[in-house]
Amino acid sequence: MTPEQLIARIRTIRGTSPGNLMARHFDEDYFRSLDDQSRQRLRRIIASGIENPDSQMGAYAMNPEDYDRFAPMLDPMIRDFHGIPAQTAIAQKHDWDTGGMSCDLAAIDSRLKDVSMRVRVARNVSTFPLPGAMSKEQRVDLERLAAQAFTRLREDPAFGGHYLSITPGSPDEIDATEYDRRVKSHQMFKDMSGDPYLNVAGISADWPYGRGMYVSRDEDFLVWVGEEDHLRIMAMQHGGNLNALFERLRNGLERLRDLLPAFATSPCYGNVTSCPTNLGAGVRASLHMRLPALTENGRDLTGLKHQAKALGLAIRGAGGEHSDAGEGGLVDISPSARLGVTEMEIMRRLYDGAAALWAMETA
Ligand code: ADP
Ligand code: MG
Repeated sequence: MTPEQLIARIRTIRGTSPGNLMARHFDEDYFRSLDDQSRQRLRRIIASGIENPDSQMGAYAMNPEDYDRFAPMLDPMIRDFHGIPAQTAIAQKHDWDTGGMSCDLAAIDSRLKDVSMRVRVARNVSTFPLPGAMSKEQRVDLERLAAQAFTRLREDPAFGGHYLSITPGSPDEIDATEYDRRVKSHQMFKDMSGDPYLNVAGISADWPYGRGMYVSRDEDFLVWVGEEDHLRIMAMQHGGNLNALFERLRNGLERLRDLLPAFATSPCYGNVTSCPTNLGAGVRASLHMRLPALTENGRDLTGLKHQAKALGLAIRGAGGEHSDAGEGGLVDISPSARLGVTEMEIMRRLYDGAAALWAMETA
């Protein structure tokens, strides 16, 4: 495809898929102004949004530097997604300190005292390209590096556990049955090789090499290796106490940070991630909630997605992104903004959002 053909294709997508942020913010003159090599690089970054017009973002960074190098293209998309106006400076601040703020879902309704809660951060180490541009060898090297860190983490009684690899021939390899069981229990990530967005971006290449998961003995602290980001570090608990959930993650993250090379960060965007939707705190905090009235018993999420959007929340199905609602209208709710908001603000938004949706559900 020549540059002009590419430009024409994106122009078409802009008309047919107005939600595609890559197409919405693609600046034709900027693209023409780039030299051949830069144009090739940018084409790789936006390939997924071109091949998958229904993409929400439509771009994945291949290297941490891409966010600076291609800022004229990426910055407007990032601001659009995270709701940051053009003139406002972006400076990602971190704050894990509750300052006495209590976010216990049981205070909303005693029926919410035992929901499934999850909070994860996305992190990439600065010594490797981002997953879309890694070689098979680099994927396996990264997994080795992570496995070494887990060996040390295991010495800490609070985080002791084991590493489960799906890399063929790995000393930690688990079989297909065990892998499936872990996916069904929502701990392990799905087979990425069937994901059209990740395929085009190169993120799922060499599947399943370099992929695995660390799980603590009590199974509430987990680390994914080799998914959409090098590492997805998370806490998962049943209950209603979001403070305890976030605290568990914060402690584990601090321990791991000491055991790994520095994470890739950007002065304005905070933590660097493959997908621009995850920049900033890199935090996605979610609840699995049953909302039968708002979802027609799980049959239709359209109305709920609309209502949730107005509250700054995103709705996913019970099996994660691009999945359907579960039994009884079980959905995944999470605050959409991750950039320019602190960890504690995200916790608060999840709590307030859950309260608002619950009031609508039970009205
Ligand atoms: P992310 O992109 O934030 O890592 P995904 O949407 O890919 O999350 O989902 C990953 C897995 O985590 C899926 O199995 C999903 O059902 C599960 N999950 C997400 N939130 C929760 C939650 N609050 N409780 C239990 N499982 C969850
Ligand atoms: Mg995901």
